[in-house]
Amino acid sequence: MLKSFPEIIFGLSEKKDGKMRLSSREPDVTALNRHNFLNSLGIDPEKMVSAVQADGVQVKVVGLEEAGQIIAGVDVLVTQEKGLTLSIAVADCAPIYFYDPVKKVIALAHAGWRDVQGGIIDATIQAFQKNFHSEAKDLQVFVGPHLRACHFEVQSEVAEKFSSYPQFIINREGKTYVDLAGIIMEQLLTAGLEREKLEFSPECTYCEDKKYFSWRRDKPNEVEAMVAYISLK
Ligand SMILES: [Zn+2]
Repeated sequence: MLKSFPEIIFGLSEKKDGKMRLSSREPDVTALNRHNFLNSLGIDPEKMVSAVQADGVQVKVVGLEEAGQIIAGVDVLVTQEKGLTLSIAVADCAPIYFYDPVKKVIALAHAGWRDVQGGIIDATIQAFQKNFHSEAKDLQVFVGPHLRACHFEVQSEVAEKFSSYPQFIINREGKTYVDLAGIIMEQLLTAGLEREKLEFSPECTYCEDKKYFSWRRDKPNEVEAMVAYISLK
């Protein structure tokens, strides 16, 4: 379990920490929220790399050159650099934290259903393998809070995109739901990761209305998001 590695610091902000989306219409508020939150964790913003997600699946390996930067058009950040914090913003999409304790490499992926359908899991694992010679069986993964099957209702065109995973399409009272966590698990196992090294938060962002923002639940004019982070000491 990722939590059992003391050299890894990872987590997700909560509603009480405020809005964290970088492209917010209130950049001053977001900047202050981020400053306070990172400060409370002892994370130096100058040593953080933030990704703002793309359409499609884009993976980027980053190093000290990218410290302090906001990188647009990227869904997954990967690094071997100690002390560099990777971050993404999420509100219903799953933050997926990866760690290879053998090669000492971390990654953070922003996984919405489009990303999962687009192969973000395989793309991330391949980035570990190609750039750092990681072995899939060594990877430790934590899938953070996201919109779970209790609330991820979809139209038929979305369900059809996951037709190869019929076990994770749930029909309930005339409505269709997708168990994205189940699909993520299936893809991780298919890629060669070991079940005991995968952990899933049981929390649903929609259900946990005091704790998390949820785009699906709140339907705000502007997306309000949490920040997910990981770093290697
Ligand atoms: Zn729910």
